[in-house]
Amino acid sequence: MTHPRRLLPDYVDFRPLGRCNLACPFCYGPRHDMPTMSEDDALRVAEILRAERVKGVVFSGGEPTLLPYLVRLAAALGAPYESGAPGPRLVLSTNGLAPVARMHQIVPHLDWLALPLESADADENATLRIGHPRQQQRVLELLKEVRRTYRAVGIKLGTVLTRQNVKGAHRVLELIQDDSSLPDTWKIYEMSPTNYGADNREALALTTEEFEEAVERCGKAAVDRGVEICVYRNSTRSGKYFFVDPDGSAVIIEDGQERRLGNFFELHSTGALSLRDAVAHEGNQHNFTSTYPTWPRTRSPFAAGEVL
Ligand code: SF4
Repeated sequence: MTHPRRLLPDYVDFRPLGRCNLACPFCYGPRHDMPTMSEDDALRVAEILRAERVKGVVFSGGEPTLLPYLVRLAAALGAPYESGAPGPRLVLSTNGLAPVARMHQIVPHLDWLALPLESADADENATLRIGHPRQQQRVLELLKEVRRTYRAVGIKLGTVLTRQNVKGAHRVLELIQDDSSLPDTWKIYEMSPTNYGADNREALALTTEEFEEAVERCGKAAVDRGVEICVYRNSTRSGKYFFVDPDGSAVIIEDGQERRLGNFFELHSTGALSLRDAVAHEGNQHNFTSTYPTWPRTRSPFAAGEVL
């Protein structure tokens, strides 16, 4: 049922920072030199999202684990409501480089963790995940650790298909030999022509035909391992996303491009623009729920008071 006061889309992508410890050439997050949102403002965003009974929030960036206040923010945003109803479902999209000890502070607050692997081939992976020579290895270690420790947290693996990894992308699951460490969902992304992705599009983007052929190879590999696969295509991107950016801007995707609507706090408080109607409800919902389905299991070990 729709909450009577709801003025926002059901699902929100919260990007409190652009800063990152990698420099992926296809990155479509905010520019890395954009100043980071203050903790006070991030908590104000969280308060509004909760008051509006937003159903799900994806933390991304930039690299969210670089935020000193991420644990406090996730705890505040995801806490159960006074009525006992669960808070918004939380997803963390991370490059996998945070120390495992730090991830143990964060993961208990999450419903899903989104991790990236671009290729089974270490060199191919490194040409796209620029800045840390062991990123591929670190993701695999983190995947194993989270799978082992937090059974109730879903894991999405993401792979962006480009010219640089088209040979090894479909073999990504081969890196995970133990079936118990496999992700719940593997999402294959077409490279988005936004921000750094726009700068490097010519060198990296596949043709539609090449992309669909690579998707087919990934699909077969996913079926072989019993992993759900979903595909992100630029042609269906518009209207699905509602971002809150580091500078407090509300951002949507329109005609395949980012459109900045204005300051989130001002737009929300004045009601000058219907932020809820700025996205297509069904597309916004389907995009989140098809990638991060609800599980017939406890929300998270932390929220349920259960230690696994
Ligand atoms: S894609 Fe993610 S990990 Fe890569 S530079 Fe952008 S924010 Fe960082």
